[in-house]
Amino acid sequence: MIVDRISLNLNNTVFAPVKKQTFTSNPAAAENAQISSEASAAIRSAVLPAVKTPVESVETITADLKKLGIEAEFKDEIQAAVTKEAIYDFIELGNSPEIFEGLKILGTDWFGSLDNPCRAGIDYTREGEFFLKLDSQFDWSKLQEQVQEMYDSGQICSNNKKAPIYEGLGRFLYFTIIDQNDYLANTKPGSLPDKDIALANQLSSNAKESSANFHSAYIAARMCKIELPKKIIWSFLKFPQPVPLERKVDTVCNFETCQQAQEYLKDKYGIEAEFADTTQANLCAGTMEDFIKLNNDPKIFDGLRIQIMTEDVEKEYLKAKGYIGRLGGLVSHSNHYDTNNNTLEDLTLRFPGKPETIDELSKDYSSGLHPSANMKQTFDHELAHWLHAKKAPLFYVLVGGIENAGKDLSGRVSGYAQMDIKEFVAEYVTGRMSGATYPKVVDEMYRQFNGPDLKFS
Ligand SMILES: [Zn+2]
Repeated sequence: MIVDRISLNLNNTVFAPVKKQTFTSNPAAAENAQISSEASAAIRSAVLPAVKTPVESVETITADLKKLGIEAEFKDEIQAAVTKEAIYDFIELGNSPEIFEGLKILGTDWFGSLDNPCRAGIDYTREGEFFLKLDSQFDWSKLQEQVQEMYDSGQICSNNKKAPIYEGLGRFLYFTIIDQNDYLANTKPGSLPDKDIALANQLSSNAKESSANFHSAYIAARMCKIELPKKIIWSFLKFPQPVPLERKVDTVCNFETCQQAQEYLKDKYGIEAEFADTTQANLCAGTMEDFIKLNNDPKIFDGLRIQIMTEDVEKEYLKAKGYIGRLGGLVSHSNHYDTNNNTLEDLTLRFPGKPETIDELSKDYSSGLHPSANMKQTFDHELAHWLHAKKAPLFYVLVGGIENAGKDLSGRVSGYAQMDIKEFVAEYVTGRMSGATYPKVVDEMYRQFNGPDLKFS
């Protein structure tokens, strides 16, 4: 009886016309049969190998792609299968089945034109026709490891094994949408408008080199469900839902007055604080609780002092630094570095009298300036500066800007993180507190720059 039910499922699985076949048992039937879960598992494991979808041959895949207007040559079934899967991913999202019509896929032994010696990459030629070239030398069964390596070094937007294929397909789409002459003109290095470079850096270290690289990396990131600053490009393409950043530890404080918050911080942690309004007080105290909980350390902000900055001082500060716009807060200290105690004197966190609004914060996130749209991001950022200055005071006062490759990598965090090493450290903490993760090389930069030893959500 039980076996009959499973056989029925088997038949459905084998003959189902859908592409993605899954073996599903009927829960109601299983309940009625009153079968033990071990026995059920034994039967399932006994029959499952027999229904495993057979690996499609290169011929079958090539014929399937031909129906979509794609001419393809593959070196083996592994390369063919992953490419086909990536193509169908676009179509299954509701994009037109003709989206890749005219695409030609070829094998190649030559990848010398790429800065990045990615053996799993996709290239193109500029000789009249447009080809996507798959590396014939590469062992495609090692694709996942290769992509992980590329991701760890900051070259590609995601460690999803299909990311390089999405990039190649994204490049084809870019080519077909715009005029070919424009395409060639726009692929010259450095052609990307300045305003887009910060966003491009958030995708990968290669994305900023040209408009085509930018668009292909953007499409790959969207296909990998990565949440990006809300800059709309190519709205006609349908993408999977992004995975939103998630702040796993998010303490809500509900002090009714600034006084209450100030007393709480003083009594519980010995922190001298003053706040401009209750929103600022609750957000700041909540953020501090998040750091304390995550690190299981009530003494993490020992010695912290928080003061309100008057509007005059804020204006003067902005003018002196040459900044345009707003100031979320700042860490100030005296010019005296105490060599005996390895401390900076008068280390003080100062927030302006007018807290930033959610609209302002969202705008900064949308433009790629900051790594999160969370209301707590200002406090994450400033508290991170304070922790950085406390951990490595001499480094903090001596350290300067970031150059070249470092700018690309710090750009993975945010536009503002590219400003200098201190801002990179503060922005990195802000991103991680909001649930963002970064390539290994970016984590390593944070360590090299004496970033505070913190546990993140
Ligand atoms: Zn800062």
